[in-house]
Amino acid sequence: MLRTVVTAELRSGLALLSDEEIEAEAQSLWAGVSSVADVEDLARARGIAIEHDDGLPAGCDGLALEHAVVVRPSRSRALLVLRILHELAHHLLGARVHTHADVWRMTLALAWPVERIRQGLPSLDIPPWCLALRAAILAECRVIPAA
Ligand SMILES: [Zn+2]
Repeated sequence: MLRTVVTAELRSGLALLSDEEIEAEAQSLWAGVSSVADVEDLARARGIAIEHDDGLPAGCDGLALEHAVVVRPSRSRALLVLRILHELAHHLLGARVHTHADVWRMTLALAWPVERIRQGLPSLDIPPWCLALRAAILAECRVIPAA
């Protein structure tokens, strides 16, 4: 279900921000943490607290607030990391004019920024179908050749 929605949004052609803007923003957040950082470190670097709440309304797995992101807990670490990255992406894009397709592009860029790929470093722990989407986006946008 989530996979279908995300893939459809990414393929919708509704993204507004350039690949360069997305990649630069993701890189800028990663620049403030070490190469062994995880999603919690990224949030901390941005001054964002992570709150877990299993009482979120049905259909809502996360919220981006001014100084925190609230996410529904998950037994799957990969799904939890994806939720946190997604809310962080909402936070990073903030008041900038953007679409939800841009938020998903930013989510995936945060999980596996170009610089980490260049260095041979792995992505954060996100579901495999997300990694496949990220690889497809990089191949299409040619931000890095032969990614
Ligand atoms: Zn969202």
